[in-house]
Amino acid sequence: MSLACTIHGALDLRLDQETPPALGPHDVLLRLGAGGICGSDLHYYKEGRVGAFVVREPLVPGHEASGVVDAVGAEVTRVTPGQKVAINPSHPCGRCDYCRAGRGNLCRHMFFLGSASVFPHAQGMFRERFVMGEAQLTPITEPHVTLGEIACAEPLSIGLHAIQRAGPVLGETVLVTGGGTIGCMSVMAARLAGAAHVIACDINDRALEMARAVGADRTIRSDRAGAAELADLAEVSIEAAGSPAALGTCLTATRRGGRIVQVGTLPPEVAFPANSLMARELDYRGAFRAHLEFDWAVQAIRTRRVDVRPLISAQLPLARAQDAFDLALDRTRSTKVQVVCD
Ligand SMILES: [Zn+2]
Ligand SMILES: [Zn+2]
Repeated sequence: MSLACTIHGALDLRLDQETPPALGPHDVLLRLGAGGICGSDLHYYKEGRVGAFVVREPLVPGHEASGVVDAVGAEVTRVTPGQKVAINPSHPCGRCDYCRAGRGNLCRHMFFLGSASVFPHAQGMFRERFVMGEAQLTPITEPHVTLGEIACAEPLSIGLHAIQRAGPVLGETVLVTGGGTIGCMSVMAARLAGAAHVIACDINDRALEMARAVGADRTIRSDRAGAAELADLAEVSIEAAGSPAALGTCLTATRRGGRIVQVGTLPPEVAFPANSLMARELDYRGAFRAHLEFDWAVQAIRTRRVDVRPLISAQLPLARAQDAFDLALDRTRSTKVQVVCD
């Protein structure tokens, strides 16, 4: 039997027992290494939904996970038992027009683990043991790289995709609003891409400390800064806070001709100064999940070109998932909380 953390509805998180399915020829049985609790997992827990995606049957959350190979199907060649692996939660169909155009994150038939966007839901990885196709797995052979770090590949891929969407940032100033996990990942991605100067904004001092710890050159309490202080700071702004006020900061801070990338989820209706985009020739771009960036993230983590360790604020056993979720909800204490098995 295997333990699974399951959300049955708003504030109804249970630990269920289940039996992992039998292995097909290209399947791999994994033991959970570490599983990061993401903002979307917290929304499922707190509200039983993320925007339009409503929990309609018990949902195992978790899409940021690493694992250890327990057993392999008869034809598996990518991994062997005992190996640590990074797990890509994204399953684009590979056949639709978007997939064929190289934009798998926009797939029409996406199956993304730990998500209620489809029904039956795509069950996630906050479970002791689970089965994954070998194509989703990358073995990590560096002995010193931890399962906690490997589990950060997915959120790092989101930061990398946000910067990818911004276009070349070499030599530029990049402003990131939001010093949570995705904001910090965006700070690191901007540095990796050659930004000359990275500024982070937040309304929480702990978040700003985190942003500094991962390489922000300057931090600003955006709730205390006036418009003059924020004006014309950056060629590129990354909105990773998911708040209208932070979007306002991006609009003020982005120089004429610059780019704004929205990676955070904003409320459904936001007052938007469209004329400011027009008159200042700003480009406004969305960034949704990631595609090739997942493999880039794995590579950056296994070489420690990007060091995600400062972001892992706590690790709790899967059996204490409820405590882990409650801790993750507290931004004054938490950046990335992970559930772990051992
Ligand atoms: Zn996530
Ligand atoms: Zn597709």
